[in-house]
Amino acid sequence: MPRARASRATLHCDAPQSIPVHTALSSVARAAFNVLLPRGCAGCDAPDDILCADCLGLFAQCRLRDLEVESATAGAGLPVWSAAIYQGVARHAILEWKDHDDVELDAVFSQIMEALTLRCGIVQRCAAAGCKSVLVVPAPSSRASMRRRGRWHTLPLAQAVVHALQSQSIAAMMTQALESRASGGRSVQQISSAQRAQRIGGNIHVTAPSAYRGAAVVLVDDIVTTGSTLRQCAQALRQSGAQVLGALALADVAGQHSNMLQSAEI
Ligand SMILES: [Zn+2]
Repeated sequence: MPRARASRATLHCDAPQSIPVHTALSSVARAAFNVLLPRGCAGCDAPDDILCADCLGLFAQCRLRDLEVESATAGAGLPVWSAAIYQGVARHAILEWKDHDDVELDAVFSQIMEALTLRCGIVQRCAAAGCKSVLVVPAPSSRASMRRRGRWHTLPLAQAVVHALQSQSIAAMMTQALESRASGGRSVQQISSAQRAQRIGGNIHVTAPSAYRGAAVVLVDDIVTTGSTLRQCAQALRQSGAQVLGALALADVAGQHSNMLQSAEI
C-alpha cells in the first residue's frame, strides 16, 4: 500500500473566525491525513507522487486489438485501444485505484484516457462514420462489485473520453446505457480468464433498448483481459440498433491473443 509510510505530527487548529467551523475542521482533517500518511506512487511507491513519471510513461502507448463480436451487423469487429500493458507496476497502480480505493488516481487516469482518445484514431473513425454526436458508454460492473467499491469507478474515465471528443468538436455525452446482472465476487486478478468469461457471459444488458437505435457509441473500460466484457457490451448495444465504433481502456493483457494488430509506443 503506497500510504504505508506514517509519521508522527503535532496538529494545531488555528482557524480564523471568518471560516465556518465545519470547513476549518475539514481542512485540518485533510492536512492531518496528508501529514500522517504521506502517499507514494501507486505503481512503484516512490515518495510524494500519485503516479511517478516512470510509471506514468508506461501508459503512453496506443495498443490496438480487434475483438470479434457476434452480431447481425456486417463487419462486426470491435477495435479496442488501450494505453498500457496490464502487468507489473501498471497493473499494481490500476489495482490500487480499482480495488484499494486510491481515488486520487481518478485525475491521473482521466488524463491518460484523454490523451489516448486524441491519439488512437477514434476521432477519425467518428468522422468517417459521419457521426455528429457520440454516446460514451462505460462498461458496467456487477452490483456487488459497485457496492464493494462504493462507486462506479470507470465513470471518470468515460467522462475524460467525453471531454477529449468534445475538444475535437464532436458532440459527445456520457450515458450509462448498460447494466450488469452478474453476481460479482472476487476481483479480476484473482480469477482465471475462463472464470471471468463465464461470469460475464450473457449478463450485460441495455437499460433502455429502444433509446439507442441508430446511436453512435464509444465504449470505455478499465482493463481488457479476455475481451468478454467489451464483447458483451458491444453485442448488447448492436442488438439494440446502436453503432458501436470502438472501445478505449487503460490497459490490456498482452500475449494472450493472436489478433493483436498494433503495439506502438507514441
Ligand atoms: Zn512509480
